[in-house]
Amino acid sequence: MPTASVASSREILTGLHDVMASKASAQAKLNKVVQIIADAMSSEVCSIYLLRDGLLELFATVGLRQTAVHVTKLALGEGLVGTIAQKVEVLNLAEAETHPEFAYRSETGEELFHSFAGVPIIRKERAIGVLAVQHAEPRAYDEVEIEALQTVAMVLSELIANAGLADKAASAADSTRDDGPVRLTGLRLVTGMARGHAVFHQPRILIEHTVAEDTEAERHRVYSAFRKMREQIENMTSVAEFGTAGEHHDILETYKMFAYDEGWSRRINEAIDSGLTAEAAIERVRQRMQMRMREIDDPLLRERMQDLDDLSNRLLRIVSGHLGTAAQMGLSGDAILIARNLGPAELLEYDRRRLKGVIVEEGSLTAHVTIVARAMGVPMLGRVRGVRQAIGEGDYVLLDGNEAAAFVRPTGPVEEAFKSKLALTQKRRAEFAAQRDLPPITTDGHRISVMVNAGLRDDAAALEAVGADGIGLFRTEFQFLISAGFPRRETQQRLYKSVLDAAGDKPVIFRTVDIGGDKALPYLDSADGEIEENPAMGWRALRLALDRDGLMKAQAHALLEAAAGRELNVMFPMISEPWEFDQAKAIVEHERGRLAARRKLLPSKVNYGAMLEVPALAETLDILLPNIDFLSIGTNDLTQFLFAADRANPKLAERYDWLSPAILRFLRRIVREAKAHHVPVGICGEMGGRTLEAIALIGIGLERFSITPVAVGPVKAMIRSLDRRAATAELDRLLEHPPADMRASLAHWAEREGVSTG
Ligand code: PEP
Ligand code: MG
Repeated sequence: MPTASVASSREILTGLHDVMASKASAQAKLNKVVQIIADAMSSEVCSIYLLRDGLLELFATVGLRQTAVHVTKLALGEGLVGTIAQKVEVLNLAEAETHPEFAYRSETGEELFHSFAGVPIIRKERAIGVLAVQHAEPRAYDEVEIEALQTVAMVLSELIANAGLADKAASAADSTRDDGPVRLTGLRLVTGMARGHAVFHQPRILIEHTVAEDTEAERHRVYSAFRKMREQIENMTSVAEFGTAGEHHDILETYKMFAYDEGWSRRINEAIDSGLTAEAAIERVRQRMQMRMREIDDPLLRERMQDLDDLSNRLLRIVSGHLGTAAQMGLSGDAILIARNLGPAELLEYDRRRLKGVIVEEGSLTAHVTIVARAMGVPMLGRVRGVRQAIGEGDYVLLDGNEAAAFVRPTGPVEEAFKSKLALTQKRRAEFAAQRDLPPITTDGHRISVMVNAGLRDDAAALEAVGADGIGLFRTEFQFLISAGFPRRETQQRLYKSVLDAAGDKPVIFRTVDIGGDKALPYLDSADGEIEENPAMGWRALRLALDRDGLMKAQAHALLEAAAGRELNVMFPMISEPWEFDQAKAIVEHERGRLAARRKLLPSKVNYGAMLEVPALAETLDILLPNIDFLSIGTNDLTQFLFAADRANPKLAERYDWLSPAILRFLRRIVREAKAHHVPVGICGEMGGRTLEAIALIGIGLERFSITPVAVGPVKAMIRSLDRRAATAELDRLLEHPPADMRASLAHWAEREGVSTG
């Protein structure tokens, strides 16, 4: 940051310091503040609007007509000022009139001015007012000026709160809260059902003093807070939860990277130079980052920024001595945790016996914290707008992760319905658990292989828990998605080895990375930075890996070393033509040759598999099959391509059925051809984890399933009650003359035959 900003912020703050300390009335102080800012920024106008009775009222101004003071009022969202307050964002406009929200107020006389810059005055994460400057000249304000305004806004927030001038942020929120029962919906991040009392993860720390008495003392406080935070993070590495799991290790690496980030500490230091207290400086930089974050489209980058926000909060707590999150204060009973968002490390600090569920305002399926919640087995609901307003601390909450809904302060009947659903799921789970050690054999004596899909080191534990035959799909890209940079070869190798160790003598099929497209990595510069219109059909998976073979070589090396002395199963995703398989295999073989030349211990055997998820490959199976050791059908991708229906589009989610004749006939053809070539064939898409679909798949000849761990119980129970011959005959019949509703027909048949579909 150029020194000019330091000078101007400092100059303003010195002026403000005297104003704040004076005995003048609050109104007189505001009048003085606008004058100081206008002078320092040489602006024709400087105005302060405060939220009073739900409206933004002009409280003080230089440059606008004084008769407009306490007369001009704007609703939230109205005009530029209303937009800033509603969105809690900065506006910086060379020509104010061109903004779509510009609203002209004749009483202010503002048509004389062109440029406009406004920042929100924030208290408890909400805008309680707006500070704006205007110039007659059309000019854009530079970063330095905006930062100076934001610094002043922080100080104003203290003045306004102390004087009780604006609506109190907390009480404004309270008054919008409906105290009756509420049903909230969101995005299902982790399935499951939970109930408990609402606990707010982080009551935001209120900054009491913003203007520093002694800048050097404040600098010292920040330095020592940084030291303490770094120490805390270093210590987390030695916590078993982090130390043993590869991905948690990677998350902490991201934390460390930020904790030692010089840019961040420098910005805080500069804010201190401008005259702020340590708390205000940290908060000031955090607010700025948050505003930036809202502008970022890239979800992965946003998640990284959230890690940084998480650390800002930690630093703020340390410096202000308010160390306790709800986790540190301890949970006193079954809790549903409420947060705007939280970091993975923070989630791990909770007592697992009492933490029953999590509801966040933000969140996404691939966020670090979601991955951790899944590993902890805690149901989680995300993207619940306004959750912190709708729920009060201590409210009773029922969380139905399966339905992606939460019931707040539920009525008796709602709670009864929830309880019986919960009891049912628990009973079913107990029944399935009891069958854990029973083999999945059909009633006519056919052994079906049931493996699980996994992606994190801890997932290997699911093998034992659910009694599966192995890991049929290990999505290696998960490790890439949760780390801050390419996981080093040694890090990859550590993960693969620990998964093999945990699996013991059960097989693990490692899929080479399926990144690119919608699983973009921020640290990988993709197709020359181009945004792909159809990422699922884009430069992803093997396509990317063959073009950037350094990635593939490193992964092959890591896999080969991890499986030294053991059997290694590798499969390649998104193969569209047989030669892609040949090339991929050649890369692994080449690495094997290099290791052999260095007399390294090699895997006892390497089996190579192909994923069939691109329809075109089905037409060249006669070329591919003789060269592969096994085939795995990825129906998640395959069916979206067959039906030209985006798998991520919720509007299409129920339009086409996996139990359609087109899909089942297509799959049957593949299965028959693979069997004719004596190549083992399995399925690893979500389809295989649904009982009716699994009946159909067995009926068309499939004998190998790799499914999500929670589905193992129901699918095993189905297999143990199914007569395979009868299923084959029924599927032959149904596919010969398909009924209009295959699903209904098959469900009817299963019921008649007494096949378990729960
Ligand atoms: C699939 O496409 O079916 C599959 C298993 O791979 P993913 O879901 O990881 O794309
Ligand atoms: Mg796929």
